[in-house]
Amino acid sequence: MVIRRNCFKNLKNSYLFPEISRRKNLFLEKNPEAKLISLGIGDTVLPFGPILTKALTTASIELGTEEGYIGYGDEQGMYELREKIASEIYKNQISPDEIFISDGAKCDIGRLQTLFGNDIRIGLQDPSYPVYIEGSILQGIDKITCIPCPFTYNFFPELSKIPPIDLLYICSPNNPTGAVYTHEELQQLVSYAKSKKILILFDGAYSSYIQDPALPRTIFEIDGAKEVAIEVNSFSKYAGFTGLRLGWSVIPRELAYEGGESIWKDWKRLNATIFNGASILSQKGGIAVFKKEGMDEIQFRINYYMKNARELKSAFVSLGYQVFGGENAPYLWVQVPKQNSWDIFQ
Ligand code: PLP
Repeated sequence: MVIRRNCFKNLKNSYLFPEISRRKNLFLEKNPEAKLISLGIGDTVLPFGPILTKALTTASIELGTEEGYIGYGDEQGMYELREKIASEIYKNQISPDEIFISDGAKCDIGRLQTLFGNDIRIGLQDPSYPVYIEGSILQGIDKITCIPCPFTYNFFPELSKIPPIDLLYICSPNNPTGAVYTHEELQQLVSYAKSKKILILFDGAYSSYIQDPALPRTIFEIDGAKEVAIEVNSFSKYAGFTGLRLGWSVIPRELAYEGGESIWKDWKRLNATIFNGASILSQKGGIAVFKKEGMDEIQFRINYYMKNARELKSAFVSLGYQVFGGENAPYLWVQVPKQNSWDIFQ
């Protein structure tokens, strides 16, 4: 019989979001009349807009015809979609060849963790999105450093407190703090990574929420980033695909391991081996949202979630809390000094 891997013992009993659901359901059982605004998992709630719905319907009808049927596609993703991402999101600073379409950023983070294996030292922003640490534990990684990112420092990692590491997870706009790093801050990080030979795994899942045009929307706006960074990104929060599933990763051609071998080549190989590409339907939906009317639908959604964030922020502020975020990200970070976060959640 197979033996349970030790790493499962090192995980907390439950992943964060199922625990939130459990507490929420218990509360609702006891208080069935309560109207609850869920501040748990960052999910979308608005239904698909007409452009996306039409694209998915048409794609589905086409798949039902002999001429329109597609079986397995290119594991890297449809070229048309990669071209749209390259031109619309990266202003052609990244080539379609460096973009890998996925079934979502979380799944890609998991596969990237497989790519780098367990014999590495990782650093994480503290606080950070739980997949970085829990996925690493699942890989069997035990050299994990949580780097203090104090609010007094725009939640930026205190570089002087980073011990030797190989891989650094950075999320900006940040889940959960709502902080967004400036060009100068990201430049500092990229220079630091270059000098210490660290690979940055940059999560830009909320980049479309940035309102201030002076803030960087991708790490690849920073000089030298192509030599040290991978970016994961997603249609989930960008275009309401949390259930449909679609994302992408950017692996620059010049990105190399310590020994000089190409990371791009191994990522392509790994995807061809254990991932058969994102669903054709989601990809067709992804292509549609880049049309002018599709972009209008996206903007409508972003404005809606940002309005919610602003209203919640002003509610917390009026209760006397110190609140961060909610300006260039849908997340709010509320300071609750001297209280345990689960207690205040409860
Ligand atoms: N990265 C961050 C920072 C997130 O907050 C989330 C989802 O909440 C994801 C990635 C996951 O995105 P996806 O739905 O594409 O897997």
